[in-house]
Amino acid sequence: MIKYDAVVVGAGNAGLAAALEFAQSGKKTLLIEQHNLPGGCATSFCRGRFEFEPSLHELCGVGPEENPGTVRTIMDDFGVKVEWKKVDDCFRVISTFSDGTPMDVTMPSGADEFIDKMEFYVPGSRSKMVELFDFLDQIEEFVNFTAEPDYDKKELMAKYADVLHVGAYSTSKVLDALGMPAKAKDILSVYWSYLGVDMDRLSFFHYANMVHMYVKSGAYIPTHTSHEISNTMIERFRELGGEVWYNCRAEEFLFEGKKCVGVRTAYGEIKADYVLANINQDIIYGKMIPKTVPIPERELKLSAARNRDFGARMFTVYLGLNKTAEELGIKDYSIFLEETMDSVKDYENLKKIDTNNYSIFLCYNVANPGISPEGTAMCSFTTMFTAADDWNNIPQEDYVKVKNKLAKKIIDNFEEKTGIVLTPYIEEISVATPWTFARYLNVPEGSVYGYITNDWDSILARILTGEKDYPFKGLKHIGTSGERGDGYSSAYYSGKFTAIAAVKEMNGGNN
Ligand SMILES: Cc1cc2nc3c(=O)[nH]c(=O)nc-3n(C[C@H](O)[C@H](O)[C@H](O)COP(=O)(O)OP(=O)(O)OC[C@H]3O[C@@H](n4cnc5c(N)ncnc54)[C@H](O)[C@@H]3O)c2cc1C
Repeated sequence: MIKYDAVVVGAGNAGLAAALEFAQSGKKTLLIEQHNLPGGCATSFCRGRFEFEPSLHELCGVGPEENPGTVRTIMDDFGVKVEWKKVDDCFRVISTFSDGTPMDVTMPSGADEFIDKMEFYVPGSRSKMVELFDFLDQIEEFVNFTAEPDYDKKELMAKYADVLHVGAYSTSKVLDALGMPAKAKDILSVYWSYLGVDMDRLSFFHYANMVHMYVKSGAYIPTHTSHEISNTMIERFRELGGEVWYNCRAEEFLFEGKKCVGVRTAYGEIKADYVLANINQDIIYGKMIPKTVPIPERELKLSAARNRDFGARMFTVYLGLNKTAEELGIKDYSIFLEETMDSVKDYENLKKIDTNNYSIFLCYNVANPGISPEGTAMCSFTTMFTAADDWNNIPQEDYVKVKNKLAKKIIDNFEEKTGIVLTPYIEEISVATPWTFARYLNVPEGSVYGYITNDWDSILARILTGEKDYPFKGLKHIGTSGERGDGYSSAYYSGKFTAIAAVKEMNGGNN
């Protein structure tokens, strides 16, 4: 049987980062991926003359070269060079303020610029916004502190008592306690969908960590789609001596007693001292542990017993248009079209296909003019579902009709709200539903966000109790169902830092 120091299952963002960390630590590492290319969500696909970005709207944590964020630092540490483009504005949002007045707001990136613009839209909000951003800084510091594998929990408690007190409250509660004016609160709630939890349940800690990164250091995208990042990571992994097997699906983990000692794949059994799985925990514990191995009750009934629900299931319409962004009158990179600024109501509406009136429009050319052929534009609309029942119940023969109807509703709504006409200029259209993502990525119900990070299961709670989530020696999960939740930056982080902990354990340390 072939033997490696470490096997990483799944070459998504988390798997790529984990594989690189192992290889860089001198471990003989194998990365296996069920598809013929790396990246998971971070890939690209071609239709006609367009190469589409399937997932990434914007990446937080990159930051400028002179002040690098976590993602840029992780890539630099790995020796992975990616060409980035900065996205200028945070977002434009078209909706209705909670007092019933119309809302059409564009917010820039940069803390000072964001606060100034908020003051313009909501006079008198400045002092509350400054207070909020001070707090975001403290939370960022806390996160950096916990990034050290051996951080001292006692020191953490003493140094960041305020963060621990306040961070566990919901974002709504904290903004109310700060006395944030209602209209400013509406504008600040735009980001809820990036984490897939309404503001009444989304822990302030999680919200603050993300908003700090997007607003303070801005968002970035790779020049050549996220496929470029994944390819560059694979090249570097190989340079470091790592091995990659594509078209290789992991079926079951191998055990000796209670220790994981490898993985059974479509190509046979592979032995390893350590296995990291870029797979949702429901699948790991529900399908991939041999029947002879006793699975702790907590993991066996993961979603049910721990009252966990899957996070956002995506629905995306990709458009290749035979006119330029300027010709079409598109000026914004991203436009959030929200029926209401009440995220609790929105969360409920997003459970059903008929009541889903939410979408995020994106025109990649605004931030990256050369992304599509000359004379064209490349756009997408993304919405999400907070429950899967409707998709589960569609008869197979109606599937295409249902997805195309929703795609048309989303495009019509955009045209009506913005006055920008797209339909006559559509050269290519492709529609991905929760089932597209489920099939392609092997994620339950098409959720690319793992489990929702609501109140008691917030990121803060996960960070502080993380070790309990790994019941078997030699096996750890990585990716969006883990500690840091969804998103590119969280996945890179999860892969790298879980691999650092595994290496320490392999080298005889305690973890
Ligand atoms: C439409 C859309 C828009 C998004 N927008 C953004 C955004 O703007 N910013 C952002 O930060 N995030 C965004 N996200 C979320 C982000 O893409 C994901 O949260 C993140 O990339 C997930 O990474 P991962 O490594 O955990 O998992 P995945 O990308 O799901 O990768 C898992 C990998 O494991 C492989 N695999 C699974 N099972 C097996 C097996 N048994 N054997 C072998 N291989 C296996 C899969 O094929 C896949 O390659 C978006 C996602 C979507 C779909």
